[in-house]
Amino acid sequence: MADPLEQFLTEYVDAVGGLVEQLEPQVYDVLLPDVAIPQRIVLDPDALPEHPSAQLLTFGSTLLDDWLAHARARGQIGWMFLDDVHLTPHALAQRITREITLPEQITLRIENTRPLYVTHSIFWFEATFFGEEKEQALYPLALDRYYNRQVRYLDEWLEGERLAETRRWAFADAPAVPLAQAYLAARDAVTRTVRAEAHARQQDAHTRLALQTERMKRYYADVRAELEERIAKAQARGDEVTSLRARVETLNREERVRLEELARRAQVRVELQLVNLLHIKIPRLFLYTRPVAKQSQVLRPASLTLTWDPLIEKTDALVCPNCQRPTFALRVNRHGVLHCPECEPTR
Ligand SMILES: [Zn+2]
Repeated sequence: MADPLEQFLTEYVDAVGGLVEQLEPQVYDVLLPDVAIPQRIVLDPDALPEHPSAQLLTFGSTLLDDWLAHARARGQIGWMFLDDVHLTPHALAQRITREITLPEQITLRIENTRPLYVTHSIFWFEATFFGEEKEQALYPLALDRYYNRQVRYLDEWLEGERLAETRRWAFADAPAVPLAQAYLAARDAVTRTVRAEAHARQQDAHTRLALQTERMKRYYADVRAELEERIAKAQARGDEVTSLRARVETLNREERVRLEELARRAQVRVELQLVNLLHIKIPRLFLYTRPVAKQSQVLRPASLTLTWDPLIEKTDALVCPNCQRPTFALRVNRHGVLHCPECEPTR
């Protein structure tokens, strides 16, 4: 098997667009895109005397640390396609009618259907919990950037072989909410989860703190009682007790400090950091429809866009034309305005 350092060297230089040439075993000339002359790199310290101008690439070397940091920074954002989906499902109109509930007198006439790539962004947040111990946890969160809605079905495809680096189809991308807006939505959702987790940890820490505090107070009370006893005996003998009194003072001070330290360590603090971001484009079928009433009532809006997800073979919740909330059911008021069951348009 290849030396992992050698493999990293060739892959890293290739990834950043540089050139690498092996001169002899463990000795390379590397030309990076941002420098004018090649740099000689040796992986074996014994080769250094023969190549005095070379830099040593080994575990713990500054060079390796720099390259690793750079490689990590580069790897934080990726683009992929998940598009080996079936785009002409059988009886699509019927499936949609089954999944969206409409008032009896209204039908949706499909005027046009076309696939568009919908960008999905997966944000990986790393939470670091500082308490008695430092612990880290990863929180992935996937957003559909067309609706800016959280999706929960992407996990199973992330490890699979269906992800591709190039697109299979030529059709256009659907509009996507700006990344900054998606990031805020993702961060809010993750913050809620992390806050609940921190709260649970805080409660555990408080329970432990109460136990530890009790134990520690008992210990100091015992030592103090012993000292007091010695003071009483010394006084009975008419001996000097100043040093013993000083020890009681020291003990009291030490107890205060250690109790404060316990309480301080029981405070759970969290840091949240975005460590990785992956954008996956997945085709979605866009259906441009015209709502039609049987009694030729004029309906608003005059057109309605629905989407069907070929990956999970489901109609997406549509955006309520009145309140913009996601819904699977539409109603119509006496003015012909379409709305969801959650809202009631006034006009
Ligand atoms: Zn509504």
